[in-house]
Order: sequence, then structure tokens, then C-alpha cells
Amino acid sequence: MGLIVQKYGGTSVGDTERIKNVAYKVSLAKQAGNKLVVVLSAMSGQTDALIKMAYQITDEPSERELDMLISTGERVTIPLLAMALQKLGHKAISLTGRQSGIFTDSMHTKARITRIAVENVSKYLNEDCIVVVAGFQGIDEGSNVTTLGRGGSDTTAVALAVALRADKCEIYTDVDGVYTTDPNIVPQARRLDRVSYEEMLEMASLGAKVLQTRSVEFAAKYKMPVVVKSSFKEGAGTWVVEEEPSMEKVLVSSVVFDKNQAKVTIVGVPDKPGIAAKIFGIIAREEINVDMIIQNVGTTDMTDISLTVPRAEAGKAMSLLNEAAKEVGAKKVLIDEEIGKVSIVGVGMRSHTGVAAKFFSLLADANINIEMISTSEIKVSCVIKRGDVDRAVRILHAGFNLGGEGPRSEKPH
Ligand code: ADP
Ligand code: ASP
Ligand code: MG
Repeated sequence: MGLIVQKYGGTSVGDTERIKNVAYKVSLAKQAGNKLVVVLSAMSGQTDALIKMAYQITDEPSERELDMLISTGERVTIPLLAMALQKLGHKAISLTGRQSGIFTDSMHTKARITRIAVENVSKYLNEDCIVVVAGFQGIDEGSNVTTLGRGGSDTTAVALAVALRADKCEIYTDVDGVYTTDPNIVPQARRLDRVSYEEMLEMASLGAKVLQTRSVEFAAKYKMPVVVKSSFKEGAGTWVVEEEPSMEKVLVSSVVFDKNQAKVTIVGVPDKPGIAAKIFGIIAREEINVDMIIQNVGTTDMTDISLTVPRAEAGKAMSLLNEAAKEVGAKKVLIDEEIGKVSIVGVGMRSHTGVAAKFFSLLADANINIEMISTSEIKVSCVIKRGDVDRAVRILHAGFNLGGEGPRSEKPH
């Protein structure tokens, strides 16, 4: 018995039959004596369809209006689930982001939750209602509707769990847990029983979309236990928890990829102090998510600077860099949208050398060219050609023995 926040993703609420299935699962948890808050996504494909419509109207939709539009997908699923729960004999109510007290900053399409006023949700919970909350959306202090970035319903769920001091947050999706890599790309991938907050954070930020990065940040900061499970089949799922000593034994726990990045290069930049600060100052103005940065060593007094950004932000990054190029006297700005990123993650890397070397040689043996590299204590990441990504993922997954029945890549004792 306790308070549980459950979240169901787009595939899990993909049509009315599936919504009835969700109602049945929620009903079981309620009958077991729990208080329940259920966060929903839009039906799968809906958010994409809404975005497409906006671009049929204009190439540059206002981000405020885009948020008004794309937040509607979740408005469809929540009343349907509330009705399905009522039909099963439960008290249930659906609430929008605003009605749930989810306040954010004003950074439209990627807003951050700033506070949650839980009074309304708590009131209904105390009246024995199942509270069904629209994921992905909030409201800024000026009453504008905002959205939390793609995959943002995960963040709604974990943030609500934290604010309500729930016992746990259950994320129901179309896979039965977090795997050693995307099981839809590598059938040999294995489900992990437990993964540390820190590893999950790296995995999410490197592109494993099973959890949105900010949801993991919330979970880690407030030590909220999160479990990822399938909506369609029973199973233990994967617990995202604090690091345990046994996790250290595994050198590499997962391979992650991201095909939604673009590389922008500013060519012929004068090689003198203060230039990078100027360029990145301009980029930072629009809060573009710059990931990797590389500065080529110039043979003359010129240099090139390349950076990777989410593909959705590449156009904006290009126009800001063109402005920067003018200001610092650079020659031109180039864009390469045919890149991808592959990464390995594992807390065991902290105390072991040679992992990066093995990563590079596995790619080299497969004739895959590395364009950019970035590392941290627990990850190695490379930019390669997008067309090589799937092959690289399979090679790394096999090369670090992550699949099959054999032992995973363990540290020598
Ligand atoms: P939802 O709509 O339920 O939020 P998502 O599509 O956002 O679901 O996330 C689930 C998907 O994440 C899976 O279908 C899978 O393709 C992908 N994925 C990527 N990396 C992993 C991983 N390491 N483990 C499990 N799933 C992963
Ligand atoms: N519907 C939103 C999206 O597709 C949010 C979510 O599903 O988490 O990104
Ligand atoms: Mg998702």
C-alpha cells in the first residue's frame, strides 16, 4: 500500500483498446490498496502529426503557438482513461498540466519545471480519486502553456512523484525494461535488472530515449526509485536506483546511439583569444543544446570550430553561427546532417583503462571513421556517419560481450 505514480507512453495508449488495457492495470494497482496518479502521453504518432501540421502552415511557427498545439495530444488521452476507469467503477478525474499545478519557465518547447503546486492533485487523492494527469505540459508564470521537450511525460511523472513524496514511480512503455542497447536494433540485447542513476543519466542524455534525461535528473536528485516496465507483458522490469558495489564489476553496461544530431562547422575563424567565448556567447543566447565541440588545429592563423547540436535545432544554430561568423570575421558556416553518435556507458570504466582504446579499435576494424570524440569518467562517445550507426552499435555490443548468455565485459580481478 502506498502512493504510486504510473506513466504510460504513446504506444501504451495508442488506441482506445489499449487505453482500456491501461485502465485494467491501473485498476489492479488501486484494488491492491494504493493511491494512484497516472501520467499519460499522447497516442503514439500524435505529437509528430501535430508538429507536421504546424509546418504545413509556416516554416517558422511561433514556439508559443507550437506548445498550444502539441500539448493537445495529451488532452485527448487523459479524459479517455478517466472514462475507462469510471466504467470499471472507480472514482477518477483527468487534469491538465495547469490543473495539476505544474509550473515551468518560459522556454517554449523545452521548458523546465520550476515548481509543482500539489494541492489540487492531493485534494482529489484524498477523495479517493485516481488522478489522471496530462504529461509533457505545464504553464509558465504568465499563464502560457509550455511543453517539456520530446519524451517529456517521463519528467512529468518523476517530478510529480517527487513533489507528492510518492513511494515509487513506474514507467510503463513498449519494452520490458532498460536494455544493454536498444532491443529494436540489436535482438541480442539483454535487459538490465538494475541500473544506477548516473549510468541512466548518461544513457538518456546520449540518446537512449527510454527515459527523458530530465526525468532521471529529478530521480537522482531526490532519490526517487523508478522502475521501467512493459505495459503489455508482466515482468520485473529495470530499477533505476543508487549505485551498488556489484555494478562496478561490469565495465561497460550499455551501448547508446543518437541519430538526431547535426554537425555545424564555422570555418576560417581567426585563431586568437576571446573568439570562442564570443561564438558560444551568441549560441547560448537561444539555449541551444551544444553537445560536442572540436577545434581543429590550424596551419595558419585560422582555425575551424565544429559543434554538434540536436537536428531540430540545427537551423537555428546555423543562423546564430552565421551572425557569429560575421562578428568574428570567420569565412563561412557549414552543416552536416548525415552524422550520428555512438557511445558506451558503464560505471566500471571509472577504475579501468583501455576501454576507449578498445572502442576505437572495434570501429577501426570495421572501417568506420571517427569524426569527433568525447569522454567522461563513465562514457566514451564518437561522432560517425549516420549510415554507419546501426553497424557500429552491433559491433560494439558484441565486442564488449553485452549480449547472449556469456559473461558480460567484467573487470579482471
Ligand atoms: P514511450 O512512448 O513509452 O515513452 P519511447 O519510445 O519514448 O516510449 O521509449 C521506448 C523506446 O526506447 C523503446 O521502444 C526502444 O526502441 C528505445 N530504447 C533506446 N535505447 C533503449 C535501451 N537501452 N533499453 C530499452 N529501450 C531503449
Ligand atoms: N507526447 C510527447 C512526445 O511525443 C511527450 C511524451 O510522449 O512523453 O514527445
Ligand atoms: Mg518516451
